[in-house]
Amino acid sequence: MCLSVGAVTSWLLDSFEGVAGFDGASLSRYADAFVALGVDGATLSELDGNGLKDAGVDNAVHRSKLLRAWNQHTSDIERTSTLVRNARVVSWQGFSMEEALQHNSMQARSALIRTPEHVLASLQRGNTRFWMGMAQRPEANAFQRRALIMQQYPSVCVVGCSDSRVPVEIVFDLGLGDMFVIRVAGNVVGGPVTASVEYAVNHLHVKMVLVMGHEGCGAVKAAMLPEAQIHAESDNLRDFLLDVKAGMDQERLAHVSDPRARDREAVITNVVSQLRALKAISSVAEKVRSGDVILSGAFYDLSSGIVDFVNQVKPDEC
Ligand SMILES: [Zn+2]
Repeated sequence: MCLSVGAVTSWLLDSFEGVAGFDGASLSRYADAFVALGVDGATLSELDGNGLKDAGVDNAVHRSKLLRAWNQHTSDIERTSTLVRNARVVSWQGFSMEEALQHNSMQARSALIRTPEHVLASLQRGNTRFWMGMAQRPEANAFQRRALIMQQYPSVCVVGCSDSRVPVEIVFDLGLGDMFVIRVAGNVVGGPVTASVEYAVNHLHVKMVLVMGHEGCGAVKAAMLPEAQIHAESDNLRDFLLDVKAGMDQERLAHVSDPRARDREAVITNVVSQLRALKAISSVAEKVRSGDVILSGAFYDLSSGIVDFVNQVKPDEC
């Protein structure tokens, strides 16, 4: 089984975190070189320094780092490959409900031991795959879908905007069962949204709650219009926009002269206002204080596809 570009990229990002001289250009060069070689788990373990040099890894420090990192990761990757192989064999030969049940409880256990920091890192990696055009688009096979019937075990709850250009699972390159997503215009918390977040935290035991605003948000732009104009809208829309407006610091926004910067600032102000509403939920605040849940905001840039994680709430702020 050859590694996909996405898998190689993800592994490189993981292995090279914080290594001097490793940047976007080397990532792209190494990933291309590995995929062009058709390198898989077996042949990569046979590659020595010279082989890596031939594969385009021209930095000697990076070559030795790659060999060391590969040794560390081999057992993990072998284990994952065995699981994937087993899942494929099972789906090919048919599977029993008992086997689906076992798979589900194994996945649920592994979700439970994931740390909030690990969940945040995997979101960052998924988004990098997306904006670099290396998305893996994980799709569960029949066996995995059947296993998911028993229970879901998403690691993150996202409050995102309904905007058609911000499909959350695609932006983070995640698949079925991975995220508990609530989408509403302007990613506004309140009513059923608040109840859904409480459900995700208290019953699904998610490790992270993310409020994600985005560039060019129509709901936020409309909320910045003069009140008289907002009052001309239908009752529901008017009340909704006035609610969003109430959470904004109009005076501060008026001082930002660049329209693009003002747009971003308004969206982030709205995200902060929604984070404040989430901090007011006692069960959420308790888990943020104990470090069991990361509560953070994010800004999705439509043009680049990059998600910036902003305004992470510190445990002592709850
Ligand atoms: Zn929006």
